[in-house]
Amino acid sequence: MNLVNNRYEIGGVDLLNIAKEFGTPVYVYDAQKIRDQYALLTSSFSDVNVKIRYACKALTNQNILRLLKGLGSGLDTVSIEEVQLGIKAGYLPDEIIFTPNGVSIEEINQAVKIGVTINIDNISILEQFGNIHGDKVPICVRLNPHILAGGNYQISTGHIDSKFGISIHQLRHVERIVKSTGLKVNGLHMHTGSEIKNIDVFLRGVDILLEATSYFKELDFIDLGSGFKVASTPDGDATDIVALGKALSQRFNEFCKEYGKALELWFEPGKFLVSEAGTFLAKVNVVKQTTATVFAGVDSGFNHLIRPMFYNAYHHILNISNASGVERIYTVSGYICETDNFAWDRKITEIKEGDILAFKNAGAYGFVMASNYNSRLRPPEVMINNGKAHLIRKREKLDDRLQNQILIEI
Ligand SMILES: *Cc1c(COP(=O)(O)O)cnc(C)c1O
Repeated sequence: MNLVNNRYEIGGVDLLNIAKEFGTPVYVYDAQKIRDQYALLTSSFSDVNVKIRYACKALTNQNILRLLKGLGSGLDTVSIEEVQLGIKAGYLPDEIIFTPNGVSIEEINQAVKIGVTINIDNISILEQFGNIHGDKVPICVRLNPHILAGGNYQISTGHIDSKFGISIHQLRHVERIVKSTGLKVNGLHMHTGSEIKNIDVFLRGVDILLEATSYFKELDFIDLGSGFKVASTPDGDATDIVALGKALSQRFNEFCKEYGKALELWFEPGKFLVSEAGTFLAKVNVVKQTTATVFAGVDSGFNHLIRPMFYNAYHHILNISNASGVERIYTVSGYICETDNFAWDRKITEIKEGDILAFKNAGAYGFVMASNYNSRLRPPEVMINNGKAHLIRKREKLDDRLQNQILIEI
């Protein structure tokens, strides 16, 4: 988002005009930012055979999937529905990895039929899978190295209490199942959660995973999941992707020599690719002064952007209707009949009713987590591409909400 002549724009398109043309609330995505992030990631790992599998649960609009496919990305999927969305968007089955947690063997078999790479994250399914498919369908195994690379315990997935992955301490058991069922393991995977702040801690996790390769002689790839952190505040920290690329590529190339084969190195970034590309626009309905606080109440709520209430996530907020005004302190809240603050005690340029607020870093886990709570309709999605704004999802209508309901005699 750039400030040009006192107006905020993305890719040459004025954001206030977007609010006017498409109405509020609205999600806006900058295609170029996604291209830039993809290029930054792949260039940081240009010394290894890197493959990107975009974790599409972050944002599944078909146009986003098609954009990433065009850049050369594959997909990381966590449900059979995401697999199907990927196929619809034009991905080949072998460009898709299915990394579910807690799903049934039936759902996994559906994914096998489609032909995507299967990533198995528990011993029970591994055994069932082996009994059904034996050596016919190679698999990836998701291991949990039990590291906490920084950040929030709840959203981290690599620690000891996490439900994700097969513990690194269960490798002997995995080996037993692989041997007795004839399973062919061609990939090892870890995804340690959301935020790598400390590269060294992450590399320790990588080392643990690479050590585990001694149990598996037929590997084609190592999938290190994600964990790439983007800065959520203007001066906040992010994963230093260039430094990580350097250190990890060197380590990985050494490993490949020891292993005796140039393996592919896979990553599954979600947030890194799409978070900063997204901006959520909402209009201020009311400025309400209570005894203790000034609330700016917008025409949205946690039904459209749940991250602040759900994860205590920080989204930077700008009043794009008053780019250069004096800053005052506001609590930004929604219109849901429940506490639904977006931000507490935030400095924002003076807000009048009718102003448009922009919530930054709203591309990942924004629209996809939206609901219809309070019977509110989900917002439209707009993509800015090559200097033009395109509607890529219509605003929901009340009829959409009613279409699956069946009226009975009452
Ligand atoms: C969610 C998820 C990711 C992406 O995480 P981000 O923090 O959005 O980068 C990658 N891999 C798996 C298995 C996931 O579940």
